[in-house]
Amino acid sequence: MRSFTYESQPARVIFGGGSLVQVAREVERLGASRAMVLCSSGQRALATRVVDLLGDRAAGIFDQALMHVPVETVRAARDIARSLRADCAVAIGGGSTTGLAKALALEPGLPIVAIPTTYAGSEMTPIYGITEARLKKTGRDARVLPRAVIYDPELTFGLPVALSVTSGINAIAHAAEGLYSHESNPIMDLMAREGIAALGRALPAIRKSPLDAKARSDALYGAWLCGTVLGGVGMGLHHKLCHTLGGSFNLPHAQTHTIVLPHALAFNAGAAPQAMARIASALGGRNAPQAVYDLARDNGAPLALRDIGMAQVDLDRACEIAMAGQYPNPRPLDAEGIRKLLQDAFDGKRPQATG
Ligand code: NAD
Repeated sequence: MRSFTYESQPARVIFGGGSLVQVAREVERLGASRAMVLCSSGQRALATRVVDLLGDRAAGIFDQALMHVPVETVRAARDIARSLRADCAVAIGGGSTTGLAKALALEPGLPIVAIPTTYAGSEMTPIYGITEARLKKTGRDARVLPRAVIYDPELTFGLPVALSVTSGINAIAHAAEGLYSHESNPIMDLMAREGIAALGRALPAIRKSPLDAKARSDALYGAWLCGTVLGGVGMGLHHKLCHTLGGSFNLPHAQTHTIVLPHALAFNAGAAPQAMARIASALGGRNAPQAVYDLARDNGAPLALRDIGMAQVDLDRACEIAMAGQYPNPRPLDAEGIRKLLQDAFDGKRPQATG
């Protein structure tokens, strides 16, 4: 008999092609009248569109969102928020931009309207991270959960295919670890399976045709579900490893997730057979680690850590850091097993069929 605790995160989601036009209504709903629009430097044109849509409710743009939310950027954004007398943040972009908005939700306490343009899923979680002196400190706080999320698949038409594929597999990682989480529950399981299946269908179609509206819509829908799982239940070895590799060795976020996931699943396979069967079936395969690996390989994603900037000499250190903290994971961590996992990910080997 299964026992569980289920707690839902408050979420207001507006989904649909062209739904960006609803941004002014969402800001108004918050009772806000001076929105600060956040974006990365490459997405300023999109932020300008948001400002146009907001009209009188726009206070200004901050276009310096950066990967891993450096504390210097947070300080600069907070100063500008105060000088603009901003009363809400509208974040348009990927997880880095949403992450910056979360820092402003902590201080000066701006509510967030998030408009995601990747599949990272940060908009559905109460988790924040700020990097200071090369160390990313993360925490959970209900205030950083966006008050409204606008998912407009049309905004993802221009997401490069390579990033679409790795960002999509990054989303699958949330759902995959959610399925064997120590906090898993039936609602999250449903969302995880549906999210993986939607992304598994969408990514090959996007690769073939990046402007395929149905595929873009399926992918963003899957990203929403997978992001909800990330916000709803605790993650395990895979997320811990990717956090270590990203933070300590400065590896790119979505690619790292894509490369490590098949190997993290192979490590856990024997200890989480039901989750593996569900992941495999959602992807239309028979073996979860191989199905994820094949999805990445067949859609042109990087497969080996050595191809994205990792050095062989750093694998021992990565293993040590991964072993340092204790956290729940289906299979207890052992240094030999983790070191082998890292070597396989470094080499880009297809996982073996047996768990
Ligand atoms: P990102 O936000 O850094 O975006 C990567 C690049 O893609 C940027 O240059 C951005 O401008 C560009 N881009 C984004 N959308 C685009 C589009 N539609 N068209 C063209 N270019 C586009 O990358 P990401 O993978 O979305 O986010 C990664 C970050 O988010 C990491 O720092 C990660 O730790 C964080 N994250 C946090 C959580 C959480 O719950 N706190 C969850 C997931 C990810």
